[in-house]
Amino acid sequence: MMRAQPEASHFIDGRYVEDAGGRLIENVYAATGETIARLHAATPAITEQSIASAKSAQKKWAKTAPAERGRLLRRAGDIIRERNRELSELETLDTAKPIQETLIADAASGADALEYFGGVAGAIAGQHIDLGADFVYTRREPLGVCVGIGAWNYPTQIACWKAAPALACGNAMIFKPSELTPLCALKLAEIFIEAGLPAGLFNVVQGYGDVGSALVAHQNVDKVSLTGSVPTGKRVLALAGEGVKHATMELGGKSALIVFDDADLEDAIGGAMLGNFYSTGQICSNATRVFVHKKIKERFLKRLAERTAKILIGDPLDEATQMGPLISAAQYEQVLGYMALGQEEGARLVCGGGKTSVAGFEQGLFVQPTVFSDVTDGMRIAKEEIFGPVMCVLDFETEDEALARANATDFGLAAGVFTRDLVRGHRVAAALEAGTCWINTYNLTPVETPFGGTKRSGVGRENSMAAIEHYTQLKSVYVATGPVESPY
Ligand code: NAD
Repeated sequence: MMRAQPEASHFIDGRYVEDAGGRLIENVYAATGETIARLHAATPAITEQSIASAKSAQKKWAKTAPAERGRLLRRAGDIIRERNRELSELETLDTAKPIQETLIADAASGADALEYFGGVAGAIAGQHIDLGADFVYTRREPLGVCVGIGAWNYPTQIACWKAAPALACGNAMIFKPSELTPLCALKLAEIFIEAGLPAGLFNVVQGYGDVGSALVAHQNVDKVSLTGSVPTGKRVLALAGEGVKHATMELGGKSALIVFDDADLEDAIGGAMLGNFYSTGQICSNATRVFVHKKIKERFLKRLAERTAKILIGDPLDEATQMGPLISAAQYEQVLGYMALGQEEGARLVCGGGKTSVAGFEQGLFVQPTVFSDVTDGMRIAKEEIFGPVMCVLDFETEDEALARANATDFGLAAGVFTRDLVRGHRVAAALEAGTCWINTYNLTPVETPFGGTKRSGVGRENSMAAIEHYTQLKSVYVATGPVESPY
């Protein structure tokens, strides 16, 4: 038996289901190169089964009192919290992110979402519109069967951020995890059943991109929410468009962090490091372009290099480890490629710049946390999403210049500003073209806050009350109180 082999590949209608005819999915633990599970991608029969089960479960669920729906979601949240350690270990095996992170950032943030949407379920409401004698009321109705497609960096969190609002609103969800991290969503499906959620409301089917598109294209699917890259987002949005379906797209970024010369230097460096090195840099909202005021640039770089040198790279299951490997060989090659490219393009290598090794983990895909300075706007390392621990430091002189350069990108997921001048902080946050802006911190995404991108970084918002709008549709009911005035 492999280390993390689940009972079967898919979870449909309350139980594990297998179809060995599907393409092999090999789940490799990136710290050791060891195969920890073998699964199969969904065949058309599995896809059909998952949709039929979701459709029939959703009809009853839509008629369940929202407060009752909420209770079940909160119960699932409780179970997640009780099992945080076990779920965090699985998340670490699935993603190779250090357990120091997964213990606080993954299952726990999934539970946050289940508690939050469990709490607001009973508050989802329509409106009464007075027309004099007649009136209209609106009903906020579920969309039906929703498909969630996940990226590999936060498999539990992504599944919960999509499932919690979808289910609270009376929908069913079919979740397709990334082929690189198939395990965590299966555990979530088990937990939902244990919490008492009716079978079929949260089904998990495995697969590569083709399974994702087959689900989105299916006539009985009403909505898709994707977390992934911009190229995938374009394809999935086009497919949803063909079927005139609802769509939420959480895509990539190349976010900017602007550090003014009055900033608290240690805090700004801490923010920049969190926004580049957490999860080995594999976070969509990362501040991969750090604009530092010319006056403080050298001091900033000196302390940044000192603090970066202390990052503990190692065994992800050791609680002392602060940075694990990258997720896959493809990602490893991509990140090493950009590290080499930065040097070819003439950026100054401040620290890192290549692969590294960890004793006892010789097959692990470890790289050094890397900082480039003297980066210019035209360099590819400043324009393209690297998705690894590679920070680009650019310098600037004026606020207008920093803003114009920060906004000169097709992406618009997130941004940040460090300054002690709060008037400037708010002015800069207003001018930054991004879905989320942080003032004097970076990368905090509590469930109470809307999260999503502008420009090519996405469509729609997850979390907060805003998510309710993306998992419901309004029906207007006109009520006449007098005779019908007809000219005929
Ligand atoms: P990806 O786009 O390669 O894959 C994402 C998911 O889409 C996977 O499950 C994949 O199987 C599926 N997929 C691929 N092609 C498809 C198709 N044609 N139709 C349907 N589904 C398809 O992304 P990734 O490499 O898994 O994740 C990294 C990317 O995700 C980065 O760009 C990152 O910025 C982004 N991301 C965004 C957010 C956010 O909330 N905005 C969060 C995490 C990651």
